Amino acid sequence: MNLEQILAISQNLHRHICPRQVLGARMGLLAGELLELTLPREDKRLVVLVETDGCFADGVSAATGCWLGRRTMRLMDYGKVAATFIDTKTQQAIRIAPHINARANAKALQTALNKWQAYLEGYKILPDNDLLTFQAVQLNFSLEQLLSHAGARVTCEQCCEEILNQREVIQNGKIYCQSCVANSYWTGNKPV
Ligand SMILES: [Zn+2]
Ligand SMILES: [Zn+2]
Repeated sequence: MNLEQILAISQNLHRHICPRQVLGARMGLLAGELLELTLPREDKRLVVLVETDGCFADGVSAATGCWLGRRTMRLMDYGKVAATFIDTKTQQAIRIAPHINARANAKALQTALNKWQAYLEGYKILPDNDLLTFQAVQLNFSLEQLLSHAGARVTCEQCCEEILNQREVIQNGKIYCQSCVANSYWTGNKPV
């Protein structure tokens, strides 16, 4: 798929087109080249950790075929337009972020346009080197554990809700969900 085809998919999902979707799409395309993987993936070989949600993530998904719903995309919510692409077969991981001068470079290319338009159109045509930076990285956690495996399913002994993907906590030999014993992100009344 070329950039225009990717952006058509992203725009369709997103109901508008914007510079960050283009950045996400360009990052995905570069990752495919660097990792020598054909994109978009139909399998689960490529996993992407995006460092923010929003428009950018849809561009990444459209380019790579990696989606939250396929469990091939995860959000590491650092509020940054950056992503790490991992080839789960070779364990090679590459983090891609915007070039520090990406905005200025886009503006310089598209002097006749307003800022937003200049970013949108500039990001489409800037060479990779003027738009993005990349680095090989090692993960500080077990990707295998994060991904877990299909079919892992237990029941919490306190709330009786089902827990997938080995996210349970074992205390005194009993199985609990994280909400019941560890770090719940909510408080509320008993369910009716
Ligand atoms: Zn947008
Ligand atoms: Zn529970």
